[in-house]
Amino acid sequence: MVRVRFAPSPTGHLHLGSARTALFNWLFARGQGGTFILRIEDTDPERSSRSMEESILRDLKWLGLDWDEGPDVGGPHAPYRQSERGEVYREHARLLVEKGLAYPCFCTPEQLEEKKRRALAEGRSPLYDGSCRDLSPGEIRRREAGGERPALRFRVPEREIAFQDLVHGLVRFPVGSVGDFIILRSDGRAGFHFSVVVDDATMGITHVIRGEDHLTNTARHLLLFEALGYPAPMYLHHSLLLGPDGGKMSKRHGATAVREYREMGYLPQALANYLALLSWSPPEGREVLDLGELVELFDIGDLSRSPAVFDRERLDWLNGKHLRRMPLEELVRVAGPFAPRWSGHPLFPVMVESVLDNITNLGELPGCLEAYGEPVEPEERAAEWLRGEVAAKVLEKAAQLLREHDIRSLEDAQEAVARLRRAFAGHDLKPKEILMPLRVALTGRDRGPALHYLIYVLGREECLRRLRLERGA
Ligand code: GLU
Repeated sequence: MVRVRFAPSPTGHLHLGSARTALFNWLFARGQGGTFILRIEDTDPERSSRSMEESILRDLKWLGLDWDEGPDVGGPHAPYRQSERGEVYREHARLLVEKGLAYPCFCTPEQLEEKKRRALAEGRSPLYDGSCRDLSPGEIRRREAGGERPALRFRVPEREIAFQDLVHGLVRFPVGSVGDFIILRSDGRAGFHFSVVVDDATMGITHVIRGEDHLTNTARHLLLFEALGYPAPMYLHHSLLLGPDGGKMSKRHGATAVREYREMGYLPQALANYLALLSWSPPEGREVLDLGELVELFDIGDLSRSPAVFDRERLDWLNGKHLRRMPLEELVRVAGPFAPRWSGHPLFPVMVESVLDNITNLGELPGCLEAYGEPVEPEERAAEWLRGEVAAKVLEKAAQLLREHDIRSLEDAQEAVARLRRAFAGHDLKPKEILMPLRVALTGRDRGPALHYLIYVLGREECLRRLRLERGA
């Protein structure tokens, strides 16, 4: 039974890159009928916060990724916050000490820093030099009795470490590439590698799917699995998310947090779709996919090894596609908060529909809906359409048609536009010459939603009022 986890550190809002990791894990779990676990890696109390944890949970939910076990829903391996699992780590650390696989280390951070500096300066490897590796039990007791608080260090065996990564194939770490590392700090808190492994082991994780930046950590993780006597999971290290310049995707490339995209008016299904497509090609012609379709088609074995380069234009394109494939009712519901000035209007759904082809995200909605507000003073290019005899005739005819026929539906408005065009059929005019004067007279602008939408939403009386104003009648 597949059991995977997403293990964010709550030190910031959910980053696009982490969301991609979460998505791969989730898609794999859902595709395999497995279990998706959310584990909060908050062992660093200075950098972690509960509010960031909440923010991450909120963004994951917004993306549509749900979890079967986690800090908020509990589960058979609770607690799911590392800060609450200290006892589990200490218990496992004792086990390693008993087996002789871990030893107390009295080196202070200052001493370690100094050793590292010297090693680098002398061109030696900066790995831990092993000074505390073979302290006698007597010496350990004496130093502890003297008030020194040791950390606990893992005794790394001298041999090559190799494993099969599901993306990278055979990965090897030669002898000497890993030094003895800390598993418990002197204050009793677990080290990063130790807590990750103890959790993956005790939570029965079968596949670890994470970013390539953790690839080298895997050597230590495999050693710990073996030392603790647990079977190691399968590993898959996916490529990292890069900015357009090839650097790791960061602030200088623009928005990096999922919440920023949510606030800009991107749809969760579009963002998830986009993140999945960054390293995976769907079957020909099936690029616009919601989560359900992704679960059906996605195969973790098809993940590409090449870096994933963020491309905002492609995201925009996908978002536009998702906006236009969404049921209107649902679209209207999510659009409301982006256009509070209009969302209470009885014809808000029609208004949204009228600008759907002009937007790539919901943040652009208010700007497009301005067309339905009070007419603006036309700029020169727009004002041009109101000058001359043709414009005067068109506006007069439009007013006459509106007085004669009420507008009760979008079809009525379509018919009004058609009538106007028919009225000038024999005049050798371009459609624009007929429609633009009316558009500019109604809104003061030379672009915006299709004319029949404007007429329907504004209503007959308002259209007539604006035409009277324009014609000075
Ligand atoms: N907490 C780690 C991170 O946020 C993840 C560790 C792992 O996936 O093994 O990068």
